[in-house]
Amino acid sequence: MKINKEEFSKIIDERRDELVALTKELIQIPTLNPPGINYLEICEFLQKRMQRLNFECKLIRAFGTPGDSDKYPRWNLVARKEGHSRGKSIHFNGHIDVVETGKNWTVNPFEGKEINGKIFGRGSCDMKGGIASAIIAVESYLTLNPKFNGSIELSFTADEETGGYGGVAYLAEKGFFSPDKIDNVIIPEPLNKNRICLGHRGVWWAKINTFGRIAHGSMPFLGDSAIEHMGAVLREFEHNLYPILDKKRTNMPVVPDGAKKSTININSIHGGEKEPEENFTGFPAAVVSDECSIIIDRRFLIEEKIGEVKKEIFDILEKIKKSRNNFSYSIKDLHEVIPTMTNQNSPLVKNLSESIYEMIGENPDYVISPGTYDQKHIDRIGKLKNCVAYGPGILDLAHQPDEYIGIQDMIDSSKIMLLTIDKIL
Ligand SMILES: [Zn+2]
Repeated sequence: MKINKEEFSKIIDERRDELVALTKELIQIPTLNPPGINYLEICEFLQKRMQRLNFECKLIRAFGTPGDSDKYPRWNLVARKEGHSRGKSIHFNGHIDVVETGKNWTVNPFEGKEINGKIFGRGSCDMKGGIASAIIAVESYLTLNPKFNGSIELSFTADEETGGYGGVAYLAEKGFFSPDKIDNVIIPEPLNKNRICLGHRGVWWAKINTFGRIAHGSMPFLGDSAIEHMGAVLREFEHNLYPILDKKRTNMPVVPDGAKKSTININSIHGGEKEPEENFTGFPAAVVSDECSIIIDRRFLIEEKIGEVKKEIFDILEKIKKSRNNFSYSIKDLHEVIPTMTNQNSPLVKNLSESIYEMIGENPDYVISPGTYDQKHIDRIGKLKNCVAYGPGILDLAHQPDEYIGIQDMIDSSKIMLLTIDKIL
């Protein structure tokens, strides 16, 4: 069935109030994570909405995943509708969780207040506005083309903000993102209406410990300070690792510019006795620390191999061991994700890109995210390559006080999603 661009545009404009109302209703269910609350409430709300259009809905609890308990169950919803004949499929995935509010809000973060064409609230931009835009696009498509071919699927998933293990990773393990079920996935994260995010850099987290020998702090020469040993590690990083990472540039279109190279962050450091609490009036005991640990967060490029990334660190630790008296260490892998980048010439990216041009007259920017998001699980566990993030909102506003989403941005990207559904199916 041929529908013209004007009809697509008109139907979304007509549904402006509905889009605003849905965004507000989603914000009004506070799905704070951690600890992960109201997941069942929001899934049931969305289930009711999708059932109105006869989507087949599955409520799925990710039993036994990190954080899942009877008090804080990890619920997810998958809604699928088959068309009148077999064909391509499109899937929209949105995370239902939001991060804590923090301080300095000037509005109630869970009211969804509309001020000057913007809706304010925690999760408005990341990513309940994106979820609402996708739902309105799907509903509008079904109004215009009830006898469509192929299938449309939406999933609303838990825990993206804490790694996605109780959400997309769990569903991917259960086969929901296998290429025989789904051809194309769009994740409406707030990347802006004229940007298509093709993937992300890689990440490796590890914990490094150095060891010493405890002694009285007044006679440190009788002990061996693990903190001093860790100091040597950090110095070596500064002199012989940072300059090397700085020179590794990628051809991936990572934004912002500073993230176009390899980076490492010392995420935390702890050594010796625990510092006394603020309201504790005593003093710590005088001891030489016998253990010190850091957690490193190494972000790497598609041009690098994970084995090389790890070897760089091992080599530095081994080098110190050879040159420094009594230096001993341990290193433990915590978490790793390989970089991913969807092919710019895939039909999904081409259709989306054409839709952006036809609806708002701009050629899209192709970007790569400095950090990972749920695409990692779809790629790694689901083995599904045709996946991008595309949605309304300004990424910088995510996780901030007075987070908001522009209503016109939602309308525009909803139109673009609608046109993309039509092109794909
Ligand atoms: Zn997000």
